[in-house]
Amino acid sequence: MTDYEIIVIGGGHAGVEAASASARMGCRTALVTLKKDAIGRMSCNPAVGGMAKGQLVKEIDALGGEMGFLTDKAAVQFRVLGRSKGPAMWSPRAQVDRKLYNRIAVERMGEIAGLDIIEDEALDIITEDGKIKGVLLRKSGIVSAKAVILAAGTFLEGKTFVGRSSKTEGRWGENPSSGLSENLEKLGFERMRLKTGTPPRIVSSSIEYKKLTPQYGDEDIHFFSQRTKPADFPGEQMVCYQAYTNSETIKIIEEHLWEAPLYDGTINAVGPRYCPSIETKAVNFPDRHRHLLFVEPEGWDDPLIYLNGYSSSLPEQVQIDSIHTIQGLENAVIARPGYAIEYDAFPPHQIKYTLETRLVEGLYFVGQILGTSGYEEAAGLGIMSGINAVLKLRGEEPFILDRSQAYIGVMIDDLITRGAPEPYRMFTSRAEYRLLIRSDNADSRLSEYGRKFGLVSENLYSEVVDKYDSVNKLIEILSSNRIEIDGSVFSGINLLKRPENTIEDVLEFFPEIKVNGDFNREVKRLTEIQVKYEGYISRQLKDVEKFRNQEEKLIPDNLDYESISSLSFEGRARLKKVHPRSLGAASRLYGVTPADIAVLAISLRKRTFHVEQ
Ligand SMILES: Cc1cc2nc3c(=O)[nH]c(=O)nc-3n(C[C@H](O)[C@H](O)[C@H](O)COP(=O)(O)OP(=O)(O)OC[C@H]3O[C@@H](n4cnc5c(N)ncnc54)[C@H](O)[C@@H]3O)c2cc1C
Repeated sequence: MTDYEIIVIGGGHAGVEAASASARMGCRTALVTLKKDAIGRMSCNPAVGGMAKGQLVKEIDALGGEMGFLTDKAAVQFRVLGRSKGPAMWSPRAQVDRKLYNRIAVERMGEIAGLDIIEDEALDIITEDGKIKGVLLRKSGIVSAKAVILAAGTFLEGKTFVGRSSKTEGRWGENPSSGLSENLEKLGFERMRLKTGTPPRIVSSSIEYKKLTPQYGDEDIHFFSQRTKPADFPGEQMVCYQAYTNSETIKIIEEHLWEAPLYDGTINAVGPRYCPSIETKAVNFPDRHRHLLFVEPEGWDDPLIYLNGYSSSLPEQVQIDSIHTIQGLENAVIARPGYAIEYDAFPPHQIKYTLETRLVEGLYFVGQILGTSGYEEAAGLGIMSGINAVLKLRGEEPFILDRSQAYIGVMIDDLITRGAPEPYRMFTSRAEYRLLIRSDNADSRLSEYGRKFGLVSENLYSEVVDKYDSVNKLIEILSSNRIEIDGSVFSGINLLKRPENTIEDVLEFFPEIKVNGDFNREVKRLTEIQVKYEGYISRQLKDVEKFRNQEEKLIPDNLDYESISSLSFEGRARLKKVHPRSLGAASRLYGVTPADIAVLAISLRKRTFHVEQ
């Protein structure tokens, strides 16, 4: 008998979700991590969600994951971003108490039945005939398992930089993981080097807040989790602030670029283009001196703040001098400088849609090591790997979400078909069917799966079903209730479709609905979205039909592309490298032309394949 059915390596956001899903689905699971008390630690910003990332968290929650519930419990401020735009863009975000989040993540992992937490370092993975057999741990030796999920974050050969000084670290003050990625390379995995960075932490009492612009939380709070009850939140929220750089700030940075590891040739790895360091902003936008920064509290009783937007690896004194030019931060005391980190990752064409590696059966790669950046992205991959590892052990069908079902599906498809030439973060613009995969309807899209896998309770699931039954009921009532205005007759639906009317306005016309119906704020909001955007939604649904048509044409995993003579040279090379799952996925590969797709389609039609995922 193996020691464990599933071993998860890494207690970060990916590992937490993977281990929780695996154990709660009934598999004997071990979570191996370097430091027990660092489980769920936030390496960078004390916040969860935001544009597109909020959608990911709602999806994780709808599947029965941990991140949404932990966030609600640890939040100090809630805001929905993108409110001025349509509902596809509404993205919940929460400012979080960093230490509290960490603490409750540790507690939560400790209470899951069937989950052992092992504080140790994975040095190698053990394989036999291309199949996973277990892991070699520094203290405990070989521990056997039927599946292993690797979620080692930024720790693989991690190296941090502040100016000219660098340390081998997995993140600030924590040892890196040495040798594991090299061992994986010896097995045949391709590895790459990526980088990311974080801003300095400032002593809150040294900031003159009256010179900054306050940013308050929303009054109508939108929680992430279906499990959260509004009464669970203390009510009062913390305030964030806005500050701005100026020409003096940028001048100091420009003068010291020669000392910046990003620009003196020390760091060659690629960083996240959409989350640039302050030195990169200075170089890329030489004419712009006013950059928005967010002064964000680290927690309820935490003396520090996080200077969002000022990620840097310049020497500490340069960071201090340039920050002192910012209004409100003239006397700021820097408790810890910003730093950059370089780490090993694995190009994602090496995985299947289940996140299992192609090379080693039963080995899964998730989180930062797959080229993503961000807690939410890591967690989304984590829960999918946990579910799929269990399904595979049970001999059941894999769980794959496509681009029209979830942001999680968009992310996995993007990673496989486009790779991660730079750290991948989610954006709403990546999702072509974003009007269908909104933050508000994640539960209607995914809770059913969560329930099927035993991750969402029956009670919670019936609450979701009841909610959407109420939405349908309200739509029905609004269709059948009519009112005469200036000689013309309008149904409630007609009135609601008018851009100037909110659901509350329309309900004013029909007082009997308000009295008789039992429609809460959430039901009314969902009804409003469904009615107002019905035209756009049905158009996207039509597009999805076309999309599914190509997605359902599965390509056998063992297809011999060499035997298809008319493929272009580049197209064949890409197809052989990535092994796209479907004709649709093949069409999204760079270098694969429409002519290649036509050839492939004909070839698939000619053959009768046993199609394997
Ligand atoms: C300096 C810095 C800046 C960042 N900046 C941003 C940013 O601006 N925006 C953003 O979205 N994200 C940022 N991130 C990334 C964010 O922290 C990660 O995306 C996220 O934490 C990844 O989650 P993960 O679970 O993959 O890995 P991590 O959260 O890094 O967790 C990895 C876990 O694996 C464990 N581990 C590693 N190796 C081993 C081993 N061999 N054996 C046992 N356990 C092991 C570690 O102990 C840790 O618990 C930054 C990270 C760092 C370090």
